[in-house]
Amino acid sequence: MGNPLLESWSTPYETPPFQSIEINHFRPAIDEAIRLAKEEIRQITENPNPPTFENTVVALDNSGEKLGQISSILFNLNSAETSRELMAEAQAISPILTRFSNDITLNVNLFSRIREIYISKDTLGLTREQEMLLEKRYRTFLLGGAGLNINDRLRFREISEELSKLTLKFEENVLDETNTFELHITEYQNLAGLPEDIVETGAEEAVKRNKEGWVFTLQFPSYVPFMQYSEKRELREKMFKAYNSRAFHKDSRDNRSLVTRIVNLRLETAIMLGFKNFAEMVLGDRMAEGPDKVVTFLEELFTYSHNAALKDFRNIEDFASGFGHNDKIEKWDWAYFSEKLKKARHNIDDEILRPYFSLDKVTEAIFGLAFRLFGLKFMTSDKIPVYHTEVTTWEVFNENGNLAAILYLDLHPRKGKNGGAWMTSFREEKILNNNRIIPLVSIVSNFARPSATKPSLLTFNELTTLLHEFGHALHGMLSQCTYESIAGTNVARDFVELPSQFMENWAFEKDWLDSFAAHYKTGEKIPFEMVQRIKDASAFNEGYACNRQLGFSFLDMAWHTITEPFGSEINNFEKSALARTELFQWSESMNMSCSFTHLFGGGYAAGYYGYKWAEVLDADAFQFFKESGLFNKEVADLFRRHILESGGSDKPMNLYRKFRGKEPSIEAFLERSGLK
Ligand SMILES: [Zn+2]
Repeated sequence: MGNPLLESWSTPYETPPFQSIEINHFRPAIDEAIRLAKEEIRQITENPNPPTFENTVVALDNSGEKLGQISSILFNLNSAETSRELMAEAQAISPILTRFSNDITLNVNLFSRIREIYISKDTLGLTREQEMLLEKRYRTFLLGGAGLNINDRLRFREISEELSKLTLKFEENVLDETNTFELHITEYQNLAGLPEDIVETGAEEAVKRNKEGWVFTLQFPSYVPFMQYSEKRELREKMFKAYNSRAFHKDSRDNRSLVTRIVNLRLETAIMLGFKNFAEMVLGDRMAEGPDKVVTFLEELFTYSHNAALKDFRNIEDFASGFGHNDKIEKWDWAYFSEKLKKARHNIDDEILRPYFSLDKVTEAIFGLAFRLFGLKFMTSDKIPVYHTEVTTWEVFNENGNLAAILYLDLHPRKGKNGGAWMTSFREEKILNNNRIIPLVSIVSNFARPSATKPSLLTFNELTTLLHEFGHALHGMLSQCTYESIAGTNVARDFVELPSQFMENWAFEKDWLDSFAAHYKTGEKIPFEMVQRIKDASAFNEGYACNRQLGFSFLDMAWHTITEPFGSEINNFEKSALARTELFQWSESMNMSCSFTHLFGGGYAAGYYGYKWAEVLDADAFQFFKESGLFNKEVADLFRRHILESGGSDKPMNLYRKFRGKEPSIEAFLERSGLK
């Protein structure tokens, strides 16, 4: 019996033959694909000819094609249509793939060939795109420790292993602390203010724990509404302090020593690799290019948002005193009074607009937008194999009538699908022997499916979600890059959200909404004042929110720009990093760093600024469209050519300048969020 994963596919556009793939095909196929990839790498390193860009860098980029195909099918299915068996396969295969990619990065012969090319790169007459690919490869090896001498390499390996253990432990402690705390309420009066459904969940939680009454926890769905609605100030204080002192109790789950150890090991790695600090190491290939630009950016935003935050703070103070609150506003009062004021000012909720956004109409309108802006046409196809009958497939044609991409849409929730929404691909674009390989792009989401009486209807939030993922999909589908590793969405992390967040802006544009949004029963057009109310509500307390995010970013940058090993009190360090953005009384019993998993668990170290950076970028880009007429073809062409088609073929700032004619400024963002 053959293994369909390893055969060549006679399906339309060589799309994955889902109907003949079985779970037990994956492991043998991955083993064989790794063997093939290793053989390709061996041919590169044992090539008797001196290294050239083609015989080494390009050959490496083209190696492992089958492996890439198979693993993308495996992991995409594991997210969108999984089962216990498939999950087990994915878990067993993951470490095999990690080992294989480590083997490449630590391949000394491969690195020495790439280094030889890198050293003479200025004499090779490379195109900008080729330079970018070379830079990216070289950097991966360098940051993987390939350039170190034998002793340093041993130490480097030791640090990497220790860091991965420490960051895991860090997350584990936070998780344990989150799960351990409970607020047990036995008297009905202590539920004052809580909405019925929250009370109900509290009762269910108590039953689960064999307790009388109600239990509230530090999990978001319990914690957030409790802080917003509970009228019992002392209980809010208790909850807030518990949440904000997780892993900060001087016990076995305290993360203080882990923070110290993690930042010091990160610093040691950075110095070993020739950088001044960890942030400099991480930010080298970002749009921001280095810590200085990040800090300047944060400072600039801070000058505006801080005043706006103080104003928001005073508003809440005034509002609260009208409620008879005569004490200071403490951290545990903020969400409570904010929610009340928001309700008083903008009584709107996300559900109200649902009847106006039927999924079919929305999809058609988004395709229509892509046609108006970028000339794309979408033709539904029933010939392309799918992994579930609910998945639809589309042939996407560009202005010249050429096939640009295949798009899969998998939009409804199922058992076996992860929550949320995402864009992914089954094959990425590249140009091989003058032939453009058509990308296979997919959007997966969890929108309510149609019923016997109703079509699938989206909330306003879900409308922006679909626009967001469609923006990522455009980036993947329109790509015109030669090399896969820098094609489509394979760009710097602080640049990748530009197309997606850019697309979200359309949800607020009357011209576009009027073209499709109508009540599914009555056909009545969407009342634009409702959209305006959502827009106003989204700018509510933006100054406060921005100031808070800047605080997190300052803290992130402070930890990751240290140039000497850290050896003092964590809370003091944090206090001084947060001092400028702090609006409340400081409390010694709470600490942010010890539960900041973005920084010390996941991969946002020295990257937290990226959230705000991306917002500034998309506001500035959309502003260009607004200034020139929303559907201005010239502006849309610039965006398509320099952003959507260009992937990572040039430095992000260069691409942006080519599109916009200048570097991004924060003006449009300030205006949109009402900070100025
Ligand atoms: Zn995104």
